[in-house]
Amino acid sequence: MVLNHSTAGMDYFATTHDDYINIAMWTSADRFAANVGKLRGAEVIELALEMTPHWHPHLRRLFELGDPASSFPVVTATSVPVDPWPTTNVTLLGDAIHTMTPGHGVGANTALRDAALLCRCLVGSDGSLLDAIGAYEAEMIPYGFARVRDSLNNNGTSGNDPLYRPFAGRLAMAGARTYFRAVDKIPSVRRKFVDDLTTYRES
Ligand SMILES: Cc1cc2nc3c(=O)[nH]c(=O)nc-3n(C[C@H](O)[C@H](O)[C@H](O)COP(=O)(O)OP(=O)(O)OC[C@H]3O[C@@H](n4cnc5c(N)ncnc54)[C@H](O)[C@@H]3O)c2cc1C
Repeated sequence: MVLNHSTAGMDYFATTHDDYINIAMWTSADRFAANVGKLRGAEVIELALEMTPHWHPHLRRLFELGDPASSFPVVTATSVPVDPWPTTNVTLLGDAIHTMTPGHGVGANTALRDAALLCRCLVGSDGSLLDAIGAYEAEMIPYGFARVRDSLNNNGTSGNDPLYRPFAGRLAMAGARTYFRAVDKIPSVRRKFVDDLTTYRES
């Protein structure tokens, strides 16, 4: 699998045991210092605070309250499409073939879709084992890499996202804030938001 590190991102988690709030802060890798993957515990929390001076104090307080022992960096990466390969009795599914950024939150969903499809192909095949695996790969590769592309283009998970440009970024942020306020206040818009999300994740 070839990973495109120029668009890799970094997540920050602060978790505690029992009931907990899990906070993830992500941006493209080039927004972080080169050593961010080596930071641990309180250093991770300090970095989150340094990078968010204009965030609402209540949100930043959640960072401050984070458990340092449960705070760690996660490097996320995106795969690049591959051409179909000669089918053998070894195949790939899930992140092993189409790892993606969490832009749409569908990496695990797609892994499960692969598993269900592979199962159907194996059980329903009238042909050989290789025919069944070939049918699985022919269907999985297009939708898998479509999810990779959509995820990279969503929520600033691409380093080229307009959000990161000085002027366009402000406009994009203002547009996003207006949209999410509408989602919050207008029931029909909220329903559409949830329906669209569910439809995408189930497609
Ligand atoms: C921050 C973040 C947020 C995410 N949010 C979502 C979300 O909201 N919704 C969603 O659908 N997806 C989400 N995902 C993606 C999701 O976690 C992955 O797509 C999913 O876990 C992939 O499943 P998998 O079984 O293919 O691979 P994995 O979950 O990586 O499982 C592979 C397993 O193989 C094991 N393994 C590796 N090498 C070996 C070996 N040599 N021998 C034995 N075992 C081995 C590993 O330890 C691991 O347990 C998110 C990912 C990240 C990083």
